[in-house]
Amino acid sequence: MHRKLLSCFQSIAVPYIALDDTDSVKGMCTTFLLTEVIRSFPELDVIGYPRLVRLNPNIPWKTRGNAALSVFLGKGMGNRLKIGEIGGREIYSYEKGRDYGDVGEIFNTVVSLVEKWAVFDDEKTNPGVVVSRRKPSQSFYWKAVRSPVSLEDAISELESTGALYKGFKNKRGLIGATASLSWRPRKRTYELIAYRYREKWGKPREIDEKSVVEMDRKFPETFDNYDYRNRYIAISPHTPCPILYGIRAVSPYNLENAHRTVKGEKEERWMIFLSNQGTDDNMVRKKIRDIRGYESVIVRGTVEREPETIEGGHVIFSISDGTGIVDCAAYEPTKEFRDVVRELIKGDVVELYGGVRSEPFTLNIEKMRVLHLENRMVKIHNPRCPKCGKRMKSTGRDGYYRCRNCGIKVKGGEEMEELKRGIKEGWYEVPVCARRHLATPLKIMPLL
Ligand code: ATP
Repeated sequence: MHRKLLSCFQSIAVPYIALDDTDSVKGMCTTFLLTEVIRSFPELDVIGYPRLVRLNPNIPWKTRGNAALSVFLGKGMGNRLKIGEIGGREIYSYEKGRDYGDVGEIFNTVVSLVEKWAVFDDEKTNPGVVVSRRKPSQSFYWKAVRSPVSLEDAISELESTGALYKGFKNKRGLIGATASLSWRPRKRTYELIAYRYREKWGKPREIDEKSVVEMDRKFPETFDNYDYRNRYIAISPHTPCPILYGIRAVSPYNLENAHRTVKGEKEERWMIFLSNQGTDDNMVRKKIRDIRGYESVIVRGTVEREPETIEGGHVIFSISDGTGIVDCAAYEPTKEFRDVVRELIKGDVVELYGGVRSEPFTLNIEKMRVLHLENRMVKIHNPRCPKCGKRMKSTGRDGYYRCRNCGIKVKGGEEMEELKRGIKEGWYEVPVCARRHLATPLKIMPLL
């Protein structure tokens, strides 16, 4: 039903509320603040789902995952689905909604919530709040998920929709808030986020590893829960923020059950968000000569310089496509993915998905499709002496061999065999522990 749910409410003029850039690496989380917004309007219902929208992951001034949040509040109508619990109150997502409440009052309340919760003393925290009856154009979302955009562009979008908005400090948060409102999902996923009791914030999280594995196995529609090889619980952050964990899935219906399977610390509240996580929305297919810094690209090319492991355990190689050549990297945190990359040889043809780092200019690989493996003949034995049949010795001169027995000299004639390759044609991706928020895991690729 969720698709129906989404399409219905979009044309209705309920107040859209959007927030961004309220947290810092030292604490808080804008998703938590959004649940506070919902909590502050007990007379209003959530229409559709609250939205957790990830934007350009290569923006240097992001705090962590470049997330922006929005929600549509009004008087709910039609079918409803439970999507969360806050302070004992069940929260429902309504199929449809009608306008309710005073937009100016809603705006003032949201601004005061940001003033209460945002981490203003962090130089990187520059909150933005938007309340609007109309959505900005969807092209703004595509720009903000794929490239750097300016604050002026965001403000002109907001002006054209007649939105109420407020930016704090350098006001950069208005960019994300506007982009979150501009998102019309083409591909979508869901995330159930469970939050901790206030007194637990900043303390180690208690999550039973076995129960995470059980949840991962029992709910195949979820993804990026657990890294089996690296024994890493991926649902839980490692920052002092209010999040206990987040479970991602391609469908929202079993998320509450998946959440109940995870054992450990009790949550204070939970909420299901609609998201562009795992959609590859940031990826643009490009020729090498057109790649720019801070973008995420899909490029096809032939391996030019073979992989080399540099200090720190990073693996670097380069590909060319006739328009240019680019260095590509599988960094140390990508763990066993580096072993796959090390198998590449000159002449292999690959398609790479990755983020572009500007300095040094490198493609940081997230996913790789091997399209063609080069056949390479390698020497397995020196030639045999044509007279006595013994193995000959290399003279040290290019391609010449001498028989120690008979003194005969020959050029070439080595026994060759095809190089055995440790990889096959097909898809490879970084392990769960190194997954980026927007990257589509291979597991869900056919499902989106
Ligand atoms: P968290 O994931 O912990 O919520 P974050 O990583 O989302 O934090 P923010 O604190 O939101 O980081 O900082 C990102 C900042 O970059 C925001 O101010 C946002 O408006 C801005 N921003 C997002 N996308 C773009 C873009 N494409 N161009 C320019 N600025 C952007």
